[in-house]
Amino acid sequence: MNQLIVAKFGGTSVADHQAMSRCAAILEQNPHTRLAVLSASSGVTNLLVALASGEHQPAHRAELLQQLNDIQQGILTSLGNPEMLSRHIEEILHHIKELSDSAAISPSKALNDEIVAQGELMSTRLFVELLRQRGTPAVWFDVRRIMHTDDRFSRAAPDLGALARAAVAELQPLCEKQLVVTQGFIGAASDGRTTTLGRGGSDFSAALLGEALEASAVEIWTDVPGIYTTDPRLVTEARAIPEISFSEASEMATFGAKVLHPATLQPAVRRQIPVFVGSSKAPEAGGTWIRNATPQAPLFRALALRRNQVLLTLTSLNMFQAHGFLAEVFGILAKHKISVDLITTSEVSVSLTLDAGAELLTDEVQAELGKHCHLKVEHGLALVALIGNRMSEVSGTGSRVFQALENVNIRMICYGASPHNLCFLVNDDAAAGVVQDLHQTLLPA
Ligand code: ADP
Ligand code: ASP
Ligand code: MG
Repeated sequence: MNQLIVAKFGGTSVADHQAMSRCAAILEQNPHTRLAVLSASSGVTNLLVALASGEHQPAHRAELLQQLNDIQQGILTSLGNPEMLSRHIEEILHHIKELSDSAAISPSKALNDEIVAQGELMSTRLFVELLRQRGTPAVWFDVRRIMHTDDRFSRAAPDLGALARAAVAELQPLCEKQLVVTQGFIGAASDGRTTTLGRGGSDFSAALLGEALEASAVEIWTDVPGIYTTDPRLVTEARAIPEISFSEASEMATFGAKVLHPATLQPAVRRQIPVFVGSSKAPEAGGTWIRNATPQAPLFRALALRRNQVLLTLTSLNMFQAHGFLAEVFGILAKHKISVDLITTSEVSVSLTLDAGAELLTDEVQAELGKHCHLKVEHGLALVALIGNRMSEVSGTGSRVFQALENVNIRMICYGASPHNLCFLVNDDAAAGVVQDLHQTLLPA
């Protein structure tokens, strides 16, 4: 392991010139930070996703392009419209217009990724210029040269071996010499086509690059000073957690704490790289360190909420005293690359939640499952996860939780598989209230 630190700056952190300047100051404070991984400026990816969807009328597309243009031009103007960079950004914006016109005629997943990747390509260009003007020279690096992925567009998976080899050969020598600025979220398939790692994927990119470069730490700079006991937008009493273990933070990310992309901690755990989460708006406020072990391991640590859950209940009389039914069901889901989150079973039925939205549960998948069983699909649900330590070992845990939920209709419960979580499904419209009540009862200040 070397001294190198990877710092990731999210969308709000690079929203405009002022926000980018705060990120530059963070980098300038620590000479060990040699790699900056950037998201697109706030709002840009949403605009690009809309442009890539291909559904819009020309007038609406023009409106979206105008909004995109305004964000980028705002930063360029603050930078004094340097000629070469202005021309380059113009070219990218023109390219986006052409690609979105093509998407309107014939949208495709590959085209989607090519379009949405432009946000990170622009923010990194602008940031390098901002650093140059501050007297902090940095080199721009196209991460697609090393972030090799499969070709599952919009949710591509990295090829870890290829990434590690390419990072050592191409990126490490640059980082040894100077600060390098690169893109989060994007990668390239083996045929060179641009891919993306899923929304919010820049956190994951930073951790993957940290792993490949054997970094001593990965810093995630965002708009909140750390990981909170729950989403501070949902519960105003939520507070930052100074230190949290990999296991707990992974559960939080998996079960909806948006502050970290769900896969972020996998590379960090593999290499035991500590991860810091802090606010680029208030770096002096400190933040959260995520490590292998922490001095304190409270029974209840945090709450996470994931909305838009799909509950699938499969019923088959053949399941009664039979074997092989579950294998068949999971075989079909695996074939379609659908992963299952929670699962409960009864004598003749199995209920499961899917980690992605309903879009993966296509008619084809439903028809295939329907050959083996009766299918019920329920929407409008939310998954609440209580995260902590030794929860499956300490007596009374369940009763404390369910006392606080006396008046709530709990649709499904998962408890016991991990000492770190207790999850349950509730109706979406009750979810915010459930989190607020549980926070007040189980995580009081
Ligand atoms: P970025 O653009 O920097 O990646 P995100 O919007 O993806 O930032 O993540 C930061 C947001 O995550 C916060 O503004 C907050 O509302 C939300 N969030 C959800 N759960 C938590 C939590 N437990 N702790 C802190 N922030 C959380
Ligand atoms: N820009 C991408 C998104 O908005 C990736 C990221 O910000 O992490 O999803
Ligand atoms: Mg994010």
